[in-house]
This record gives sequence, C-alpha cells and structure tokens, in this order.
Amino acid sequence: MNNLPLNKILEFHYANAHSLEIKIALGDGYVLNKSELAFAIRKLAIKYGYSFTDSNFSFANTLPVISLAYFLRDKKITFTDNISVLEELNKTVGDFVNSNHLLKIGFPANSVLHESAHCIAHYHLFNNRDPFELFDLEDDVTVIFKFLIAESYSQTAEVLNFKYFLHGEATYIDLFMLKFNTFVNVKRAFVQAILQIEKRIDADATYLLIMLIFFCHNLKKRTISQAEWEIITEILEKKLSVQKQVDWCEIFDLSLPIREFIFSLGHDFINFTTPLFFKNLGYSGDYAQTLQNKISLELFLTKDSIIDKSKQMIFELNSML
Ligand SMILES: [Zn+2]
Repeated sequence: MNNLPLNKILEFHYANAHSLEIKIALGDGYVLNKSELAFAIRKLAIKYGYSFTDSNFSFANTLPVISLAYFLRDKKITFTDNISVLEELNKTVGDFVNSNHLLKIGFPANSVLHESAHCIAHYHLFNNRDPFELFDLEDDVTVIFKFLIAESYSQTAEVLNFKYFLHGEATYIDLFMLKFNTFVNVKRAFVQAILQIEKRIDADATYLLIMLIFFCHNLKKRTISQAEWEIITEILEKKLSVQKQVDWCEIFDLSLPIREFIFSLGHDFINFTTPLFFKNLGYSGDYAQTLQNKISLELFLTKDSIIDKSKQMIFELNSML
C-alpha cells in the first residue's frame, strides 16, 4: 500500500482518535497514539496552561517565524485545520484526491509537537513569563542563550519523535500521518544512531547530546570540532552524571548520522528569522555580534542554574515515557 484514497485517509484519521487529540488536525490523534513522546509533550503543554486554537492570533499562518512569541504570551498554540477541507473534498471530488496527491500539492502540515516542546522549555527556563518582558528582566545574553536552548530542546523532541515511527517496520500510513505533524524529515539511520547511543549512555544523556549538537548548529556552526566535542562530553559527564565508563570516541562515531542531518540544515532560519524574533521581543542589540562573541557551548559550564533547568526539562519528559 503506497497510495490511499481520500476516504481511507479520513477513515484512518477518525479510527485513531485520542483523548488529547486536536480533532481537526490531520493525524494528530494518530501520532499521539503511536508516540509516547508526543503524548507526554501534549500532556505537559496542557499541564503548563496551554490550549490549542486554529485562530491566526499568533500570525502563525501569515508569518510563522514570529508566532512563537504570541503562543508563549497567550498560552495558546495555533494549528491549521486541515480536516475540514478534506471533508469538503470528500463530498465534492471524493477519491479524485489521494495521499500522493496531497503530498505533491504541498498540503499544509502542523508542528504542534515542536511548539508544545517550546512551552515546556519556557516554563522551566523563563517561569512561563510573558516573552515581551524578558529583555527587561534579564541581560540580553542570558535571554538569547535560554531561547537557543529552548529551540534546541524543541528540535530534539521533534527528531526523537521519529524513534516511534522508524524503529521497526513503519507502515505507509504511519509515515504519511507523521509527515503532516512535523516540519523535519529524519531518516532511519538517524534513528538507529539514537538507539545505539541510548544503549551506551542513557536516554537523558542522549537527549542532551542531540540538544547540544542542535545548539552548535543554532550558533551557525557547520560541524563539531574536537574542542567542541570535548566540551560536550564534559557537560554530559559533569552535569548529567554519566557514571559508567563511556568510550566518547565511539559515541562520536555513532553520532555521525545525527551530526550529518543537523549540520545539513540551512542557516536562513538563524540568519533572518531568529534576529527578527528577538527584535520583535524588544531586543535592541546586534544579534549576529552577540551570537558570534558572547554565546558559546562553554556557557553551559558556567551557568549552573541554566543547565539544571535544562536537565529538569529533559528528566521530566523522559520520566513520562
Ligand atoms: Zn522552534
């Protein structure tokens, strides 16, 4: 089965309902049923006061790059209602539409999981405060550093979600439903690397490792140098109490598909969207300069309270799996 008529897609959508699902987001319940991680993230976002809306109050449908600030301010995550149109088409054109069709025409996807992970990070790193007040309350470097951690945490959650789909035999419908609930595309080798690393260190340390690699990418790096790898292992050993003897050279080799994927992501987001995001929050400095001169991996080793909060948000999530 590698193509599904529209009525079958809708059947799968409704047959996989979930108690916390967004009913009018294609495959949302399907993903929650399949992925314990997606379910845990949904529960935590709700616990921290968030609800879900298809209103465009956050400009998510117009200028998604700034929408996060409004999600966090109003404690609401915007999603796109992509079921109503399928219901309509099912009545008007029926099986003229199929899954391949939807994949080809750029049918809209949702990224509720990624945005919900931001909500968890925002609770831990910023005490759920109004993001428009943050630059008045803390120094610029700390606010930017924490937001980059939050971004890396959310990116990590999004790629780890693939573990629940690609660890064994993924069906066509699994991948189809996942595709409409994520903005990234991770391959099987990436998931296999995660599983191998989790066996050698643990799930918490693996989460932090991937998060730190994303963090390096968010600093505009194109690879991880030997010196940076040593800082990463120092953070993992000191801050996460990785107890057992770990062969970090082996972990480095195993992480190749993860590093390749992360560093293949473009820098447009970092160069154009992130500065606009911070400017919109009231940041008045030069983002490129701050990023280059003041934000680094080493900061993790000097800011104990921030790394403690980063640990908490990983532990909290993993303890629910
Ligand atoms: Zn994000």
